[in-house]
Amino acid sequence: MPIASVNPATGETLETFEPLDAAGLEQRLARAEAAFRTYRTTSFAQRAGLLRRAAELLDEDRETVARTMTEEMGKPIAAARAEAAKCARAMRWYAENAEALLADEHPEPADVADAGAARAYVRYRPLGAVLAVMPWNFPFWQVVRFAAPALMAGNVGLLKHASNVPRTAVALEELFRRAGFPEGCFQTLLIGSGAVEGVVRDPRVAAVTLTGSEPAGRAVAAAAADEVKKAVLELGGSDPYVVMPSADLDAAAATAVTARAQNNGQSCIAAKRFIVHTEVYDRFTAAFTAAMGALRVGDPMDEATQVGPLASRQGRDEIAELVEDARAHGARVECGGRRPEGLDTGWFYEPTVLTGITPRMRIHQEETFGPVATVYRVADLDEAVALANDTPFGLSSNVWTEDPAEQERFVRDIQAGGVFFNGMTASHPALPFGGVKRSGFGRELSGHGIKEFCNVTTVWIA
Ligand code: NDP
Repeated sequence: MPIASVNPATGETLETFEPLDAAGLEQRLARAEAAFRTYRTTSFAQRAGLLRRAAELLDEDRETVARTMTEEMGKPIAAARAEAAKCARAMRWYAENAEALLADEHPEPADVADAGAARAYVRYRPLGAVLAVMPWNFPFWQVVRFAAPALMAGNVGLLKHASNVPRTAVALEELFRRAGFPEGCFQTLLIGSGAVEGVVRDPRVAAVTLTGSEPAGRAVAAAAADEVKKAVLELGGSDPYVVMPSADLDAAAATAVTARAQNNGQSCIAAKRFIVHTEVYDRFTAAFTAAMGALRVGDPMDEATQVGPLASRQGRDEIAELVEDARAHGARVECGGRRPEGLDTGWFYEPTVLTGITPRMRIHQEETFGPVATVYRVADLDEAVALANDTPFGLSSNVWTEDPAEQERFVRDIQAGGVFFNGMTASHPALPFGGVKRSGFGRELSGHGIKEFCNVTTVWIA
């Protein structure tokens, strides 16, 4: 794939970029190594000062940054502004909390008395240069949620961003440079995916984190494993959204629309499979379908637009194929199911609700990375739990029930990295983010995320 910025609302190529040649890549890897040698010795206070400055700059630049994202990948402009603001908040959160999260841990003296030490403790030390292979869907947030904790821990970052968001990738490097991070602490590598393995294998790179598809995750983690390097994977999701009879149905239906259509349907933690108890199925499905069908699709720069284009032609075509396959196997299209009229340039797809889903349909098992929802009817809680878990993925989940026993049942049995009750899944700096099964391994954000790329060092003093 060429490294190019193409406006998905028009198909127009805005700018193309030359990938780094071997000498350019070598120079950047050497810079990262050199930067780590000194940056690792900086204090938390120094790092926090730099990250707070980056947050300030990002707040000042919010409009420009938001327009860059919208032009490159098509998210509605209001959502792009919100993403930039969220990044600044996460930077401040890590600036504020990293030192406490990584404070030395002192076990109870009695617990280590028989270890023969007068004193023993744990120190969290940085690992080195961490490569981040990132996707285009939240082009700022995905990077910042890696970079803020990594930089606060004393690591340095190398970003291989998705090839369709190079302007954003360059803007991220600029932001950290302008904030005053020493040269080499955060660098963008404009390289194609074919060059990633070599970077993972480079001895100057200590670890890798990837957010993206399963094939990409498998390739990167395999190279990391071969080099015995730490990897964190955040892959796809097909999150269930379960609605039980005790739910506030109006709120459940309204939130379902946001949970499915956010970011033009291209979010790994979007609710994708709506699993509804038969007692409330008709009412929920009617309200949900009406609201999905009423979403305003159009130019993402228009403040009134709720759903913009998909980020690529390929992404739009894949979504259309999944819907056609379901239709061919007997699914009912409650709304949408086609490209919107009058939006011929650009890669738009109508918000779609499908019912009558059966296991023969691809959409039953595959991830829908676009504004397409499947709705299932279930007879009871057991069926809801079984269907929620009937997926290769295990990222997050949403359950609407006021019943504490039902909530506890989901906490016990759901095969996912999160369960959100009476609301939709969202990431937050203070809460861990990540999945199980084919959604990946490791965690981002919170204390769990910052410790992923630390050398957990035992200090034993006789
Ligand atoms: P890809 O996995 O193709 O791209 C993600 C990143 O990986 C890009 O930087 C890409 O580079 C790179 N990449 C792709 N193939 C390889 C490879 N073989 N070796 C090394 N790097 C590689 O994702 P898509 O563009 O298809 O994005 C959609 C997918 O990502 C969906 O399945 C979605 O669920 C998942 N995703 C998961 C998220 C999560 O947080 N769990 C968040 C967002 C998306 P290049 O662009 O140059 O190909």
